[in-house]
This record gives sequence, C-alpha cells and structure tokens, in this order.
Amino acid sequence: MSQAAPSERPEDRGFVKEIPSKSQHFGDWYTAVILKAELADYYPVRGCTVIRPYGFSIWELMQQGLDRRFKATGHTNAYFPLFIPQSFLQREAEHVEGFAPEVAWVTRGGGEELSEPLAVRPTSETAIGHMYARWIRSYRDLPVLINQWCNVVRWEKATRPFLRTMEFLWQEGHTAHRTPDEAEAEARQMLDVYRDFAETDLSIPVLAGRKPESEKFPGALHSYTIEALMPDGQALQAGTSHNLGQNFARAFDIKFLDSDNTEKFVSTTSWGVSWRMLGGLIMAHGDDRGLVLPPIVAPFQAVIVPILSGKNRDDVLAAARSIAERLRASTRIRLDERTEVTPGWKFNDWEMRGVPLRIELGPRDLSQKQAVLVPRIGAGRRAVAMDNIAAEVGAALGEVQKSLFAQAKAYLDTHIVSAATREEAASAIASRKGFVRVAWCGEAACEQTLRRATGASPRLIADDRPSGPCVECGKEARQIAYYARAY
Ligand SMILES: [Zn+2]
Repeated sequence: MSQAAPSERPEDRGFVKEIPSKSQHFGDWYTAVILKAELADYYPVRGCTVIRPYGFSIWELMQQGLDRRFKATGHTNAYFPLFIPQSFLQREAEHVEGFAPEVAWVTRGGGEELSEPLAVRPTSETAIGHMYARWIRSYRDLPVLINQWCNVVRWEKATRPFLRTMEFLWQEGHTAHRTPDEAEAEARQMLDVYRDFAETDLSIPVLAGRKPESEKFPGALHSYTIEALMPDGQALQAGTSHNLGQNFARAFDIKFLDSDNTEKFVSTTSWGVSWRMLGGLIMAHGDDRGLVLPPIVAPFQAVIVPILSGKNRDDVLAAARSIAERLRASTRIRLDERTEVTPGWKFNDWEMRGVPLRIELGPRDLSQKQAVLVPRIGAGRRAVAMDNIAAEVGAALGEVQKSLFAQAKAYLDTHIVSAATREEAASAIASRKGFVRVAWCGEAACEQTLRRATGASPRLIADDRPSGPCVECGKEARQIAYYARAY
C-alpha cells in the first residue's frame, strides 16, 4: 500500500472539520460543500449565483446527457429572446395570474420610458406561442419539436444556491401537435426522459406522476413531475412536463389546416429541468467528507495522485503520466502533479470535490507493476495490475455509479410510508419519514384540510389504484397522493 488512510494523517484533519456534519447541520453542510468545492459563489445581487468552472462543468455534463436524449426523441434546439412584451404574458389568463408575482419588468431603456413594458422571461410559452402562430399553417408543419437552453428570471423572496435562485439556467421544450392525444403522449414521453436521466446519469431515483390540480403549471391541462427525496425527508421537484392542451393555441391563435380541409387549433406541451437538479445531486449523494459525484457527470472521473516523496520520484511521475495517457481515451482523468501539498492533502481535497475514483501510485506500486484504486464510496481500496488499468478503472467507475443509485434507492424505498388517517399523516410528516402515501377522493376540500394538518403538499398523484377510503372524508378514494414537505 502506498499511503496511510487519509483520516490517519493529523495534518489533513482540518479539511473535514470545515464541513459541518451532514446529518446534524444539513443546511450549513449544503452551503459549505458548494463554497468549498468551488461549485458556486455569492454575488452582490440577492438571489443571483455565480457558477464557478467546476460547478459549470457538472452542469455541462448534465446538459449533454439531457440534450442527447432530446435529440434522440426528435427535438432540435433554437433560441428565443429574453424580453417578452407585456401584452403576450397577459393573453393566457391562468398563466398571467400564476406568474404575475414573480415577473421582473423592464420599463426604461436607452434613457427613455418604454411604450410597453418588457417582461424578463420567467418561461417562454407566450414568446414561442406567438412565433408558432406565424410558422404553423398546415398539418404538414406538425409536429414542431423545439427545445431551448437559456436563463430565466423569477423574483423569488427566499433563495438558495441552485435550489431557488432569481436567475437560473434551464432548458424548456415547447412542442405543437396535430391532436390532443399526441400532445399527451409527448408530455408523458418527456417525463420519462427526465426520469431516465435522473436515475441513469445522476443515480437519483424518483417518483413520477401527475400533479394535482392545485399544483399544476399555470395554463396547463395536466402537469407531470418527477420528485426526488432528499436526506432531510423533503421532496425536490426535479423536472416537470406539461400538456397545455389548446389553452395557449387559443390564446395565441395557433391554427393549422388539417387534411380534412378544416382549420383546427394545435395542442401544445412544455417541459423543463433546471440547475436545481444539480442542487438535488449535491444533497442526495454528498457525505461528511464533501461532494460525491456520479461518474457520468463528474468533471474528473478519476484523479491520479503519484507519491513523489521517495527516491524513485522521476520514475513514479513518468509512470503516472503514462497511466494518464492510457486512460484519457476512456476516462475524464486528472493527474495531480502538485508538489507544494502532500499526497494526503490531495486525497482529502479530491474527496471533498467528489471525484469518484482516486488512483494512487507509489515507488512500491511501481516495482510491483500495480496501482491502487480508491473509490469515493463503496468497496475499499484495492491494488490492480498496471497492464489492466483501463478495464479496472472502467469497472470501478461503473460500480460507483451503481452503488450511488442503490444507496439512494434504498433510502427512497424505506421513506415512503402509508397513512390511513390525518393524524398518521401529520405524525409521519413531522418525524421526517419522507413521502406519505394517502388514499384521496380527489376533492379540493380534503386536500386543503390535509395540507393544513400536515404542513405538507401533495407532490404527485400516482398511477396505482387506491385501496380503502379517502384519508379525510371517508368517501370512496379515487387516487393515491404522495405528500411531503418540499424545497
Ligand atoms: Zn375526501
């Protein structure tokens, strides 16, 4: 073995001390990890966050994973303007009501009062609806399948890096279809794309389902959501997909001539995920040593730390460089050649930054033609033959990706509890049991009572059929709702 375990090195202990315990001080832990791992930093405008290069690299990898899936399902990217005329936002009644409190307005420009205020986009249904009305003429123009990557602004009162910020980065898909059924299928398809991305790339298991009426997107017919459970028992809405029906088509007069020679309204959808998912990633997998990244979205999947203290220093460094070269084709690799810090310091530094795998190489390893692999979580350190290093590293990264999902899935599965009464539901929410599953008649009055009694909201309606009566009124239940406190 090339080194003592990092925790045994007294000079390195300070590192971990600077990060509060995740289980005891979750909020402080979250902020400390973001700042120390250099994911993001504060900025003098309230609610605005600077994403630093390491954080942005993770976001870029997330974008790639999503974008690849969007393209594979037939979508292409475009870009629409940041400013939206006030009259556009006012055209769909529910939409304007839903977003009014959060919209930022530009009223002056070039030293003059504007004749019509411009909204800084909170979302782009209206801007895109206006353009679709110009572009869509015939059923041959359909479907229109467009996505845009952009920033949006929502004037939030309380903010937290990634989870809730005034300006944030996201993608918004906007599609127009010939029939209502096609729009419904699209909305469900994109929800499944989000679920697959969260579970496969981010190793975050989610519940997927429909939003209750009270929680749906302003102007939507149906909203669908994926919800992840964070370690403090609170739900994180990680992505939403909306079937907008013909609401926006009517508001923006998006019509087409169908093959039967009659003019019809299109049916539209919209769907989005934001960098909020990155916040979810930090919370879901991190530990007391800092960030833990799933290999698929890790800017560095493995870091090589050569032990350069012995007399074979040049040989060790040369071997480390050769390993890095060999791995570069298959792995995002970083060779840490710094000499001003100790190997132990480096171990802690890269662990804190969540690098999934460390490769140690010392003089003794070199003489035995081996290297030592130390995964960030799961199976402990192990020596592997240098000849076989690419395959060993690939396998170790695959294991980390899988273990993270298994760990998070075990947590989710043990934090879904059923409640048969209001009291059971309230007590489960109070003791942070996670998602509370209740049978519900579907009446808004019962939902309101349960919200007040639990301090939680219905996160989604599942597809499964209820057994037993409504948790509130005792009448026949028609659906299963999952309640939780939420970010
Ligand atoms: Zn009821």
